[in-house]
Amino acid sequence: MSSASGSETSGGAGGKKEASGSGSGGQLPSYPRNPMAGRTCYKCGDPDHFANVCKEYWEAKESNKPFVSPPLGTGRIERTMAPGSERRSLSADSYTVRSESDEMNRLMREYLARKEQVRVEKMEKEKREEAEREAEAARQEKARGKLEKEAEKKREQKERDDQLLYLVRMEIQRETGKKIESEESETRKYDRKTRKHVKTNERGETIENEKERLRREIAFLEAAEEEEEEDNELQFLR
Ligand SMILES: [Zn+2]
Repeated sequence: MSSASGSETSGGAGGKKEASGSGSGGQLPSYPRNPMAGRTCYKCGDPDHFANVCKEYWEAKESNKPFVSPPLGTGRIERTMAPGSERRSLSADSYTVRSESDEMNRLMREYLARKEQVRVEKMEKEKREEAEREAEAARQEKARGKLEKEAEKKREQKERDDQLLYLVRMEIQRETGKKIESEESETRKYDRKTRKHVKTNERGETIENEKERLRREIAFLEAAEEEEEEDNELQFLR
């Protein structure tokens, strides 16, 4: 039994020696420092590779199986996990989730920005249209005012003309002793030029004809008056 125990002890020592030998392999000064020294794969906890080349993780990922991380205390770096998600690889999935939610946020921001821009453009367009409507209304109001003024002017002009015509008629009547008939005697005459029936007086004259004739008569009377005055002056001088 003692030999068995001795052999067991020696075997154990041998095993220990072998294990310590393999563990201190990276301590040789002539070799470059092992980049994995003191580090482990943060997915599976193995000390011989980084997580980006973790075979276990990527195989699980490819076969669409949840990656089961090893139990704690095997050298794996502990990470805070949300309850219920312990059995999934946090790092890779949360990275994907985060980038997906970033993308969603970006799309959402863009969507809202577009919507806001459309709203602002619509508001500006409505403002422009309102201003145009107001300007158009003001233009029309101004035009209406102008037309009314012109109509008023015409009315006043016509009243002055009628009054002048009346006065001139009275004057001619007084001068000539002839009675000029009133407006009731007016007739209508077809005017070939304007193709309209125009008012005429008892002489068959239109208002324009009459005005012209009256102007000539007034000029004649004035000339006659001047002649008479000259005669008087001459007589006075003699
Ligand atoms: Zn690994």
